[in-house]
Amino acid sequence: MPKNNDLMDKIVSLSKRRGFIFQSSEIYGGLSSSYDYGPLGVELKNNIKKAWWKTMVQDRDNIVGLDAAIIMSPKVWEASGHLTAGFADPLRECKKCHHRFRTDNLEGDKCPDCGGELTEERQFNLMMKTNLGVVEDEASVAYLRAETCQGIYCNFKNVLDSMHMKLPFGIAQIGKSFRNEITPGNFTFRTREFEQMEMQYFISPDDSKKYFDEWKNMRMKWYEDLGVSKDGLKFEKHGKDDLAHYAKAAEDVIYKFPFGWSELEGIHDRGDWDLSNHQKHSRQKLEYFDQENNRRFVPHVIETSGGVDRATLMFIADAYTEDEAPDADGKLQTRTVLKFDKRLAPIKVAVLPLSKKEELSKVAREVYDGLKDEFMTWYDETQAIGKRYRRQDEVGTPYCVTVDFESLEDKSVTVRDRDTMKQERIRMDELKDYLIKKLA
Ligand code: ATP
Repeated sequence: MPKNNDLMDKIVSLSKRRGFIFQSSEIYGGLSSSYDYGPLGVELKNNIKKAWWKTMVQDRDNIVGLDAAIIMSPKVWEASGHLTAGFADPLRECKKCHHRFRTDNLEGDKCPDCGGELTEERQFNLMMKTNLGVVEDEASVAYLRAETCQGIYCNFKNVLDSMHMKLPFGIAQIGKSFRNEITPGNFTFRTREFEQMEMQYFISPDDSKKYFDEWKNMRMKWYEDLGVSKDGLKFEKHGKDDLAHYAKAAEDVIYKFPFGWSELEGIHDRGDWDLSNHQKHSRQKLEYFDQENNRRFVPHVIETSGGVDRATLMFIADAYTEDEAPDADGKLQTRTVLKFDKRLAPIKVAVLPLSKKEELSKVAREVYDGLKDEFMTWYDETQAIGKRYRRQDEVGTPYCVTVDFESLEDKSVTVRDRDTMKQERIRMDELKDYLIKKLA
């Protein structure tokens, strides 16, 4: 396997070459730290979101979904503490090159980039401002949400009443968030526009410890079940000094990225901080009535908060493998494979006629048409078959189906497994069921 720095370069280059992730606005020289997901990237990202939604919503009987607006009343951000110091990073700017650094990332008193003199520490608010309506005045100032969970708190009562939920219950949401990050970087790891998958679990105050532990373990299991290497995952506990203003306890799931152990997702015991604050600022009751014990209270919250982009980068990095395989002449060559879990693979099956001859293309097209309503299927008849296998390995396609001249006679095709490279002859009329079983 490549060394860490090389690995990151390889991931960035493969992402571009194979249509996973492109630099945003590239034809204009690119916008730094902004990225676009290409045809395979969007499939991968959608599959990750689907897997999360299945575990967090579909498979549960007490968690429901939500899709709240990105632009909310500015009052929300006053109540949440985002417009005050709570969401500001202490920052110093270099007087010479004007690069900015988070104080907690600095060692010494000089600019790490050019050695220049640094300004005094200043608070820098991370909220992204915009204006609503056509006139740019203070009255129309609004913010792009900095986290999706505030939309959940604001809808707590709506969901409780409309869906007749009983504690404990959760509300899950996937959506974009925006932060004017001072130090974006490491490809898609930290960007100013990103997607979150968050779930807020509303509980009775006495149950915090129990559900905090439960969610911690369930979230770790989610990554492990999707095939992430166990020695690449661990928890990191927040000490008293780095707990967020709202949190009573916090642990991160961290992953061994090529650039070092870094946060994937946070599990937080937020107490009643959020609902109590919204109750105070909105003057609306955000309480729960516990019929059994005849008591009314503001529920506490356990939050699981992960990034879709970070998860996507992690799944690519974790799946990246190099092994050796013989080429057409029997010579060993390095083979790059993205060993994605089958549920996450952007393309499930590639149909490859051995040659472009019309009689083969015709049958191969029929095979392709028979599969594509069931799986994300790809058709490719360009270049030598060995090259086409490599291309599919490189994007993590679990199965390649080859149609050859014998197929015309025996009505069978060759199915090649991405990981073992083993080939099996399967009858065309049994192919779909065979692949359904394999990809289940
Ligand atoms: P960090 O310490 O890395 O800035 P955070 O602790 O501020 O992250 P949270 O506010 O807990 O992050 O957000 C929850 C999740 O959202 C993070 O675990 C991460 O996966 C994702 N996330 C947060 N900020 C970004 C960002 N700028 N770019 C990409 N993903 C992000």
